[in-house]
Amino acid sequence: MEVREFARFPFVRGASEFVRRSKVELDDLLGHTAFSQARMRGKKRVLDAIEKASVDDNSMATEEDRLQEILSYPMARILVSCVGDGFLIRRYALAEAKTAYDRMQTERVETLMEIAAELGVEATLVDDLPSMHFTDFLRFTSGLRSKEWKLVNTEVKKGKVALPKVKFARVLEQALHDKLEDELPLPVTRSMLEALRPDISELKMLAEQMKDRYQTEGFGEVDVESFPPCMKRLVAMAQAGENISHPGRFALTSFLFNIGLSREEIMKIFAGSPDFDEAKTRYQIDHITGEISGTTYTPPECSTMRTNAVCFNADDLCRLDWVKHPLIYYRAKLRRKRRSAPAPQAAKEGSAAEPVGRPESR
Ligand code: SF4
Repeated sequence: MEVREFARFPFVRGASEFVRRSKVELDDLLGHTAFSQARMRGKKRVLDAIEKASVDDNSMATEEDRLQEILSYPMARILVSCVGDGFLIRRYALAEAKTAYDRMQTERVETLMEIAAELGVEATLVDDLPSMHFTDFLRFTSGLRSKEWKLVNTEVKKGKVALPKVKFARVLEQALHDKLEDELPLPVTRSMLEALRPDISELKMLAEQMKDRYQTEGFGEVDVESFPPCMKRLVAMAQAGENISHPGRFALTSFLFNIGLSREEIMKIFAGSPDFDEAKTRYQIDHITGEISGTTYTPPECSTMRTNAVCFNADDLCRLDWVKHPLIYYRAKLRRKRRSAPAPQAAKEGSAAEPVGRPESR
C-alpha cells in the first residue's frame, strides 16, 4: 500500500510505520502547532462518529494532508480512550468500520486482500474472488441478519466460501469493528488527559447527551431504568447501530411490546441500525407482536436467553432464584422502585384534597 491508502485505511500497520518513519513524537501530536490540523481532524472523527456513525472524507491532495489524515486516526483513538465511555467506544468502532467499508468499494480486490491480512481474516484469491474458510465466514457474519449471509444460501466448495468484492468488504467491516472494540480503550497517561482536557470534556458531554436522547426518546411511559441488563444492552446496541442477532431482536421486540410500547415506537428504536430495512423490520415486528401471526410472543426465559447468548451483564437481581424471565425482572424492579420512593405526604386532617396514589396491586 502507498501513503494514499494509509490515509484512507489508517488502521493498517503500514500507516503506523509511516508515522514512525516521519519521526512524529506523541508529545508533538498532543501539543505542537505543526499538528493542530491532525488534532482537529482527530476530534472531527469522533464528532462524526457521535453525530452520524461514519467519518467524513477530508482533502488528501497533498503529502501534508495525507500525513495529517493518518495522524488523525491515533488522535481519535486517544480521545475516545480518554473519554473512556463504552457507548462512545462502540459508536466510534462502528463509524470507522462503516467508513472503511464505503472506501473499500472503490479499491482493487488486491488492496482488500492486504486489509484482510492486517485484520487477521485468512483469505486467498481464487479466480479473482476472495475465498475464505467457512468457519471464518461464520465467525464474522453470525451477526448479519439478511438471508444472503446464511451459510445454507452460500456455495461452499471444499470448506471454502468465495465472495464477491462487496460482500468480502462487509466481512472486513465486521472484522475491523470487532478489532476496534477489542482494542479500545487504550491506556491513557496524565499528560494526555491534561493536554486534551477541553476536547475530552466536550466529547464526554456530547456522548452523554446522545445517550440521554436515546434513553428517553420513544419510550413514553415506560421506565427504562427498570429494564433488565439484557434489554438495556440490546436497546443500546440498536440505538448505536450495532448488529443484533436474530434471538436478540426477537427478545427485545417482544419485551418492548409486552411492557406497552407500540409497534411504531419499536420501529423507531431499530431505525438507527446501519442496515435498517424498514419493510423487513416492520414485518418482523408485526409477526412477533401478533399483527400477522395472531400470536403475541413474550421474550424467552432467562435460561434460553443465556443459551442464545443474549443474556448480558446479569446483576444481583437476576441472580435471585425466582427471577427467571426478563419481564419478571422488570416488574420486580418497578415494585422495588415504587416501594423505595418517598411516601406521598398525607393529606391534612379535614383537608378536601383528593387521596394521592393507591395501594399497589400485585
Ligand atoms: S438473567 Fe435474565 S433478566 Fe437478567 S440479564 Fe440475563 S436474561 Fe436478562
